[in-house]
Amino acid sequence: MASSLNYSSAWQLLVATMLSAQSQDRQVNVVTKKLFRDHGDIPDYASMKPSELYNYTKSIGLYRGKSKNIILSAKRIMSDFNGKVPSTIKELESLPGVGRKTANVVQYNWFGKSEGIAIDTHCITVCNRLGLAKSTNPAKIEKIMMQITERKDWGNVTHLFIALGRDVCTARAKHCERCVLKSMCPSSTVKI
Ligand code: SF4
Repeated sequence: MASSLNYSSAWQLLVATMLSAQSQDRQVNVVTKKLFRDHGDIPDYASMKPSELYNYTKSIGLYRGKSKNIILSAKRIMSDFNGKVPSTIKELESLPGVGRKTANVVQYNWFGKSEGIAIDTHCITVCNRLGLAKSTNPAKIEKIMMQITERKDWGNVTHLFIALGRDVCTARAKHCERCVLKSMCPSSTVKI
């Protein structure tokens, strides 16, 4: 999920992931290239005014809310976490604007741990077509996927399903003829 976002610290990954909600990673990378060049680490953001951050983020959907949450998260990290991005899902989720998906992404991609599986819209589509879930609720799908996969694979599960959902099993069209799962998928349009 975060593999196509550019970052070089836990904080930068958190910011990029927060900005990427319902937005293209490509556009987020354009924005963060300038943002991360001009603004260093967490204390810098904690003292920013929203309007200052808007100058960078305004090409991103929902930029006002996202920018405010980034600043509030920076303040919270300075006051409650000794200036360091926390590593547990519970702590990450306590930051303003950080939901379970973002928390899972940061935990796996920066800290190399997995307390859960990040579920995005691609994962929801693929899981339902594969017959693994009959739900659009990310929390329910995460629970199911945690039961049927091994913990050591949780981070990769997200990446694989996102790659499949982006390139092959997209919301608009199923390209089953070039899908590696076509022989086992109940929704496949290819007769084996
Ligand atoms: S076989 Fe078709 S429907 Fe099933 S996961 Fe692959 S692309 Fe999606």
